[in-house]
Parts: sequence; C-alpha cells; structure tokens
Amino acid sequence: MKHLLGLEDLSADEITRILNDAEGFVGVGVGTIPKRDDLKGKVVANLFFEPSTRTRVSFGLAARRLGAETLDFSPGGSSTAKGETFIDTAKNIEAMGVNAMVIRHSSPGAPHVLTRHLLPHVHVVNAGDGAHEHPTQGLLDILTIRQRKRRVAGLTVGLVGDIAHSRVARSNIHGLTKLGAKVIVCGPTTLVPSEVAGLGVEITHDLDAILPRCDVLNLLRIQFERQRSGLFPSIREYRLLFGMDGDRMRRAKPDVLLLAPGPINRGVEITPDAADGPNSAILDQVTNGLAVRMAVLSLLCGEG
Ligand code: ASP
Repeated sequence: MKHLLGLEDLSADEITRILNDAEGFVGVGVGTIPKRDDLKGKVVANLFFEPSTRTRVSFGLAARRLGAETLDFSPGGSSTAKGETFIDTAKNIEAMGVNAMVIRHSSPGAPHVLTRHLLPHVHVVNAGDGAHEHPTQGLLDILTIRQRKRRVAGLTVGLVGDIAHSRVARSNIHGLTKLGAKVIVCGPTTLVPSEVAGLGVEITHDLDAILPRCDVLNLLRIQFERQRSGLFPSIREYRLLFGMDGDRMRRAKPDVLLLAPGPINRGVEITPDAADGPNSAILDQVTNGLAVRMAVLSLLCGEG
C-alpha cells in the first residue's frame, strides 16, 4: 500500500490487516508501554484545509509516538490568504523533506490529485475529502465494533443521519460491507441519495422500524456546512424522527452499540443520556483512532 485514499480501494484482507495491526498499537506510548521507532527519521506533515479536532490531533500524536517529526499546516495565517494554490502549498511543504502527507480538504478527490503532483516517495493519507471518504474514521469505527462485538460479519449496522454529505457514511459503507456486515442507511429523504442502494445497503427513512434489528447505530452529524438550503426542515423535527434518546434506547436491542464520529451535537443526533451511557463507545472510538492512525502510518512509511 502506497497511499490510503479510501476504503473503496481496499480489499477485505487489507482492511483486516490494518485492524489487526491497530490492535497491537492500542496503548503504545502510554504508561509503561514504550513508544516505537517505526518512523524514526521520517517527517509526517498534517495539511488540514478544513477544521478538525480528533483527526488532526491524533495523526500528530500517532506520528510522534512512532518516532517521527511532525509538521502542521492550516490555511489560517498562511499564504493561502495571498492566493497560493493547494498544489503549490503542498509542493512547498514537500520541499522541506516530507515522507507522508495527511490531507483534509473540502474538495472530494483533493488527496488523489496530490498523489499525481508529489514526489514518488511521499505517501498520501486522506483525512477527509469533502463528502467523499474519511478512511481512518471508517477503520476506527470498524475496529471499535470488532472490539465490542467480537466480530463484524453478520452484524446489522445502522448509519443514521445526513448520508448525502457524510464522508464517514461512505467509508463505513465500503468497509463494513466488505467485511460482511449488513448496512442500513437511515435519514430524511432529502439526505439519503437513492444511489447508495448501489453500494449494497438497505435504505429506510424510519429509525423506529429498524431499531430492534440493529446491533450497532452510528449517529452521523448533520453536515450543515455542506448542505444546500431547503434540505433540512428543522432541528426539532430531525431530533423527533432521528435523534437517539432514552426512549429509543429502551426500544433498541439491550446491547446495541452506539457510535458517533464526532463532533456530536448533544440533543440533536443523540441526547446526553445516550451519548454518555453504557452502550456508548464514543470515547473508545477516539482511543482507537490513535491506534488506527499509528497502524496506517507504520504500514505506509515504516521501516518494518
Ligand atoms: N469529524 C468527522 C468528519 O470530519 C465527522 C463530522 O465532521 O461530522 O467527517
């Protein structure tokens, strides 16, 4: 593997390999478990042209725990404001001697374009490209499911919310279906494009109808920043129809696993009692995100 651009490009075996590696990275660099030197002498650049909390911080920490130097770029305060193009920005950062570029951009395909402009030895990792894919988020979601449920194949996973604009939905769909899970996408009709049926998922607009069938519910954020107007009637209506709350928890499977990629809008996609309750693995996802990013960086540009 040279780049990680999306889970659509990976086979089930490649996904499983990364998940297995990631399990071995959980806790590395914490307490008595020493850091590693898989990336000693390497430089990992984080180029985030869109906001991020978890992904950005954890890629940086993952790289440092593997012994790399890191470099952080965000457009605020940079020459992007003077009109420098995305490609020129990336090539100038590359010229400082970079081995991997972790890139988040609002344009779908931006990381793919970079692979055609950078030097052959530079690895590109997609950290979210518009509404297209967010592969490490998909991997960390699947790792969390595998840890808690001891399997992925045969599970029924509901992806709830703004499917149309969610790169997390797309990466989950590709990854989960390849590993043999049944995926149901659920959301308002305006936010669930009918084309997703072609990806092998079931489509519904009725969360209450699927609640008793789901082993896992991944509650996706409404991507207001990517929506055209008129797609979304009101937050109140959304919460009533698609919000996960105490009442819906009582009607779901008792061991249903709740995931959310974050940031969560408390009281919209999920109420605090559900988000912070025993069925929630939201913070486990964050911990696993670090391990997944270590596994990906080590696999792409490690010495091993
Ligand atoms: N943090 C995730 C992403 O960047 C999910 C979200 O923003 O809703 O796609």
